[in-house]
Parts: sequence; structure tokens; C-alpha cells
Amino acid sequence: MFDLKKFEFWFVVGSQDLYGEETLKQAADHARIMAEEFNKDPAIPGAVVLKPVAKSPGEIRRVFEEANAASACAGIITWMHTFSPSKMWIGGLQINKKPILHLHTQFNRDIPWASIDMDFMNLNQSAHGDREHGYIYARMRLPRKIVAGFWQDPEVRRRTAVWMRAAAARRDGIYSTVLRLGDNMREVAVTEGDKVEAQIKFGWQVNTWGIGDLAACYQTVSGEAADKLVGEYEAAYELETELRNPGKGRTAVREQAKIEIALSRMLETEHAGAFTTTFQDLHGLPQLPGLACQRLMERGYGFGAEGDWKQSMLVRAAKVMASGLSGGVSFMEDYTYHFEPGREAALGAHMLEVCPSIAAGKPRLEVHPLGIGGKAPPARMVFDAAPGPAVLATLVDLGGRFRMIVNEIETVKIENAMPKLPVARALWKPYPNMRDAAESWIIAGGAHHSVYSSALTAEYFRDWAEMTGVEFVLIGPDTKPARLQDELRWAEAYWGR
Ligand code: MN
Repeated sequence: MFDLKKFEFWFVVGSQDLYGEETLKQAADHARIMAEEFNKDPAIPGAVVLKPVAKSPGEIRRVFEEANAASACAGIITWMHTFSPSKMWIGGLQINKKPILHLHTQFNRDIPWASIDMDFMNLNQSAHGDREHGYIYARMRLPRKIVAGFWQDPEVRRRTAVWMRAAAARRDGIYSTVLRLGDNMREVAVTEGDKVEAQIKFGWQVNTWGIGDLAACYQTVSGEAADKLVGEYEAAYELETELRNPGKGRTAVREQAKIEIALSRMLETEHAGAFTTTFQDLHGLPQLPGLACQRLMERGYGFGAEGDWKQSMLVRAAKVMASGLSGGVSFMEDYTYHFEPGREAALGAHMLEVCPSIAAGKPRLEVHPLGIGGKAPPARMVFDAAPGPAVLATLVDLGGRFRMIVNEIETVKIENAMPKLPVARALWKPYPNMRDAAESWIIAGGAHHSVYSSALTAEYFRDWAEMTGVEFVLIGPDTKPARLQDELRWAEAYWGR
């Protein structure tokens, strides 16, 4: 969906002049081989760009200056093949604006027992050099991810790839706009937030467009364009019989196609990566955008309902992170519970807007009346989410800072028919269990809106939170609500109120 190869990751190998030309040449050769191997590995999503071995404060500062100015550079991977005194790195790290991965590895996997001598020890001493390097990040309190292990190990590659995807989303966010149609719902608190702070932290430009602009654009969409798009729907989804033939239902689908085209044009014109709607402000539109929002999420746009721009941008970030992975990403809402002992589960859905990338099968296109919004019955896709592990992530504004909360969940197969509930839905069992997950989420101030992903794990969101400087709260198998409550209180001392 997104071309992640356009994101560059600069590979900066540290050393110093002390070792002499031969050792430095070997270090450079090893780094070149590693960069080539990373770029050949389909598990590595970004482009690894090798930089000359960094040996002096001036060289180190220069590479960070260049990285800051290089818009394609989404992150920097550092590795100390030999010892590289860390005072040399202070100047560069002070000005650095890019996410850092400290790769703690060494070129050889095994100790060459029979031939090892002091020359070998001096060349292959990252066990030693990376500790000096790690110290300066700790001393300067700098955000970074540390990945330790042999560089050919698939687990090292996987964790590196997770960081790269998070960094790609970070880089995408710096150039992203969320197109807000209408405001936050009047009295809703959790969907509010500091848009200036969001731009400072994430780069997100959160701006408003009038619903009239969308309505005007809707009016200009031709019947032919709408019919062509309805043809695409027919190829991709199951259509109820009455929607295949002319009539009120078919017209409703056609109206959603026009809304999709109009929204799509506006997003392209404004170079926006995400958008929000609100059912309190739909003047000039025949229906609440339902199918249109589902389709645009499927195409990679972020979406938030009821003016929820934070979740909209987070859906977009997750879409970038999950690009090319199996599983999907959707806007989601905790809706209702099943409290039967032993089978406790939460049913997530929204009025209409759930992305079909998380669907178990082919979505069905249906048209039904909607109780709120006061508009015509909207077209929407209906499906069950695919069973399997997934995560819910949300972003809240605590006043003074943002907090990200992630809950690990297991989505389960829906065994009961729900013939009177024509919306896309997911049924999940949260970790550690329903009671503790719900209490933990609520202690942390987590929203009813979230990003649902079956493609991503908590690690992606943790990496993204680290590089954007946001508090990260994980609710997983080991979480205890009382302990979490204490931790959140301690965290106030770190983050400030
Ligand atoms: Mn909602």
C-alpha cells in the first residue's frame, strides 16, 4: 500500500582513528556487507543507507546535520564495531532530530577459538564499544530503541523492522494533515485535545474544513463516476440482491460512492492522510459517510468518527506501520460486553465505520436506517473481524501531555448470528482478562475510541511512542490494575502533570 523503501535508514558505524587504517577498512567492509544483506532481506522494509565509518566529533556531527536535512531519512541506526569514545558523539546527538536504533551486534557470530588473538579482539569489540555508546544515550536521556543480538538472527531483523515501520509512520506524520470536517461532538471530553501540542509532538497538522466544502464537492461528482465506483464495489464485496437492481437501496449505495469520490478528491487536494466526520454536522450530505469511510480506510487513510482527530491520525500511523503485513488496521470503538462467566468478551464496532482490512471474509454491502444523525439510510459494509491476536491502541490528552494506551487482545470467532445488527464488528477477549483489562484501561483514562490492528503488536506502538516522546502504557497478560495505578502515579513524576 505504501512504498516503505522510500524511507531511508542511515547506518552509521562508529570507531576512532586509534586503530589504524587496516582495522578501519575492515570495519567499513563489514558494515557494507551488513547493509547489503539488510537490503536483500524482504523482512527489512526500509532502505538501509550506509554512511562512512564515523571516527571524530566533526564527522559525527556532520552526519547528524546531513540526516536532519535529508527528508528521506526516517531514522538512524548506530553500531560501534570498535570502541568509539562517546564524548565524540555528544555534539551530533545533541542536534539529532531522527529516531535512533542502537543495534548492538557484532560481525562474527562465533568466537574463532583456534585463531583468536588481540588483533581480532580489537577489531570485534562491540560488546565493549556499544556499552560506551549506550552510556551516552542514557546520560543524555535520549529516546532510542536498543536491539541486541547477532545481525543475521531473524529476531534481530524482525525487531529492527518493527522500529523501521514505526519510524516510517513517524516520518509520514511529520508531513501529514488531518482534514477535520466539523468539530468534536459538543460535550464529549476524550475526543478533545491540544492540536498545537499534537503538531509539536507528532507533526500532525490538525485543521478544519467546512462540511459545505464536502457538500459542494459531492454535487460535482458525475453519475458516470459514481456508477463506475459502484461497479468496483460489486467486484469486491457481496451485495444484497435488492442492491443489484435499480431502486432505493441502489441509489443509497450510489450516494455513498459519490461521497467517497468527493472525500477522496478533498483528501488529495489538501494532501491529507486522515480525516474526521461528525454526525452532528452533515449539512448538504444525503447520508452519514459510512461505506465511504470504510473504503477510504481500506485505501490507507486514517479515520476518526465524531471529530476524533487523535484516533484518525493514529489509524493513519498504524496503516503506514502495517503496510504489506498480513492483517488489518481499523478505527474501533468498545461497544458492549458479554459477561457470561467463562466466556467474557467485548463487542467492538462503530455505527458504520470499521475498515474491511480486518474482515474474516468478503464483506457484505447493505443499506439500513440509522437511529441517529437524522439522514437517509446509509450504505455500509457488514462483516465479522478475523479471529486471532490483535491490539487496541488509543491516544488521550491528559492536559500537558499525551498518553498512549495499548491493550493486547485475542479476537474470537462470533458463534451467534446477530441478524438485527447490520454493522461490522469484532468480538475479543482482552488480556489479562475482561475485568482487569477494563479496570486498567479506565484507570489510565483510555478512550472508547481506539485503533484496532490484527497486523501489529504492542511493540510497534511502543517504538512509535518512544520516538515521538509520548507516555506508553501496556495492558497485557502480566498487568495488574492496582500495580498499574501505582505505576501511573510514579509516572506523573517523570512526565509532570
Ligand atoms: Mn464513536
